Amino acid sequence: MSGRANQIAVTERLSQSVAAITASATLAVSAKARALRATGEPVIGFGAGEPDFPTPDHIVEAAVEACRDSGNHRYTPAAGLPELREAIAAKTARDSGLAVDPAQVLVTNGAKHAVTAAFETLLNPGDEVLLPAPYWTTYPESVALAGGLTRVLPTDEADGFRVTVDDLEEARTPHTKALMFVSPSNPTGAVYPADEVEAIGRWAAENEIWVVTDEIYEHLTYGDHQFSSMPALVPELADWCVVVNGVSKSYAMTGWRVGWLIGPADLVSAATNLQTHTTSNVSNVPQRAALAAVSGDLTAVGDMRAAFDRRRRTMFGMLEAIPGVTCMEPEGAFYALPCMTGVLDRDIGGRRPQTTVELAEVVLDSAKVAIVPGEAFGAPGYARLSFALGDDDLREGVGRIAELFASVG
Ligand code: PLP
Repeated sequence: MSGRANQIAVTERLSQSVAAITASATLAVSAKARALRATGEPVIGFGAGEPDFPTPDHIVEAAVEACRDSGNHRYTPAAGLPELREAIAAKTARDSGLAVDPAQVLVTNGAKHAVTAAFETLLNPGDEVLLPAPYWTTYPESVALAGGLTRVLPTDEADGFRVTVDDLEEARTPHTKALMFVSPSNPTGAVYPADEVEAIGRWAAENEIWVVTDEIYEHLTYGDHQFSSMPALVPELADWCVVVNGVSKSYAMTGWRVGWLIGPADLVSAATNLQTHTTSNVSNVPQRAALAAVSGDLTAVGDMRAAFDRRRRTMFGMLEAIPGVTCMEPEGAFYALPCMTGVLDRDIGGRRPQTTVELAEVVLDSAKVAIVPGEAFGAPGYARLSFALGDDDLREGVGRIAELFASVG
């Protein structure tokens, strides 16, 4: 770009709301780690929020077959293949105990797209969305893009990074339109117990506040922690609830881009109309693969969960042992969110990082390990490490951080 265009502020040349968006920090960290690795640096990346396993064979086979069927070479209904919407409804009854009609399902390009579609469909300018922090980095951007305002509710590690009904009630204003809820959580690894999920759902239903509940990590809980679906526990929330889900995390299918939302008829119909003008139908071949995933059993999911659980225990144990670092034991998903304030403003690798953004740079430069600074999640002082990577890399990577921090002056 040159000349006159260069002199005009980007917010004047482009849409203000889109120009204000920052790139996803988690994707940026992964991209930087990949780029360094491509130059021969032995980088270990804890940034990626995706399973390292290949997609199970029977799912890949369904996609191969789907490629050969010319029926999949054409546009299909914008809301998704009828068979897939039916299978998602059946899977939701099986896994969440929630009865929904296939017409309440909208198939989207991943769960991220379902979050965006939900807020686009729900919000008017100035509507407020309650967002417990630490939060997944995409939520506030989606709210802002849809013209809404995010009201962040900080939570404490000591309280398991969970909000209470009292916190929500205190933050509620006449403009509160929705609550963004996620359990198991990215980035905290927190899992809300059923009684707390139910209490929050009842509070929302009583106050006619929408809940967008992200259930993408439903199958990834550890120890005694169990997933609970809010609309299953609180049937009166049915008219005020949007469930977001997808195949990415449970079936190692992040690259296939299939997710969905489930909601009341008016919302799904409006969101479908929106989709007819934006993406049309999700690519048919991945939809066929997702059909094989959700209509199959949960054996592969169970195997992957067992591996994540093992890695979780390894990572938690190693992080806990690093002086200056504390960590809540992850209860679900595949992330640890250690507090690293104990090593800030100290001499590490010849530098004195003041923030976790600076610390992450030092860790990448000195130890060749990529971590995501908590600032990306509304959690300065913390860093997120995914444990969805191989056991050896995991040990090596956390070991390098431990060694670097041991040199703190
Ligand atoms: N929701 C949460 C909480 C996530 O962590 C992620 C991915 O990191 C997504 C949704 C997006 O999933 P998808 O790959 O289906 O877009």
